[in-house]
Amino acid sequence: MMRINEPAEAWKYVRGFENLSLCDWPGLHSCIIFLGGCNLRCPTCHNGQLAWDMHTLPIIEPPRIKAYLRDRAGWLDGVTVTGGEPTTVPGLAGLLFEIRQSGLPVKLDTNGMRPDMVRELLSLGLVDVFAVDVKGPFAKYPALTGHAVSEIAARANLERIFGLAAARPEAFYFRTTQVPGLTEDDLATARGYLPPDFTLTIQKYVPPHTHVPPRRTQENAQPNHEERRPVGNVVN
Ligand code: SF4
Repeated sequence: MMRINEPAEAWKYVRGFENLSLCDWPGLHSCIIFLGGCNLRCPTCHNGQLAWDMHTLPIIEPPRIKAYLRDRAGWLDGVTVTGGEPTTVPGLAGLLFEIRQSGLPVKLDTNGMRPDMVRELLSLGLVDVFAVDVKGPFAKYPALTGHAVSEIAARANLERIFGLAAARPEAFYFRTTQVPGLTEDDLATARGYLPPDFTLTIQKYVPPHTHVPPRRTQENAQPNHEERRPVGNVVN
């Protein structure tokens, strides 16, 4: 059973913060909290340092973030919690509980490989919206995730997520980053997995080591952690 009274450990995983994003949560002004650690090894990952080597990044002191949320809650519309993979963080529920003390809605980005955690967070009312990556056809998950996930596991985990989404459609949306090797047929296959009435947002992949930030268009207006990095530990 998830415990929500031990957030201290989770705050140690906060290794990035973005004060304001106008595109991460469509239609909302949100800030972004980046949590270190990930259960996958996607070769296309843009956040390798955060995902696999977070201890090389500084901890952001919780009081600074809490004060920011408290002081800006009047005009900020929400908080995005991303990674890495947030569902791998010990004490995540407690951290989300503390974030919610600000009164702001929470969006959580996830690769969908820990459906039990998603179900619990949903049932506890700690997350308003889950943005779930569907990385491609189940058969390509081993290649897409650095062989961290088998085809069978990808299918089992995402089908459980899809079941949750079918029951709570307002709480989920799905997206795919068109990384190298994913064809139009692959995107159609991934789209076909979704429950009825869901759409799959396709995001263009921007290769790492690009010094010019990707230009946001309507098509790629919802960056996921395959292209978004904690650009700085900015808290005023
Ligand atoms: S792309 Fe996302 S899921 Fe894949 S390794 Fe990077 S942080 Fe983890």
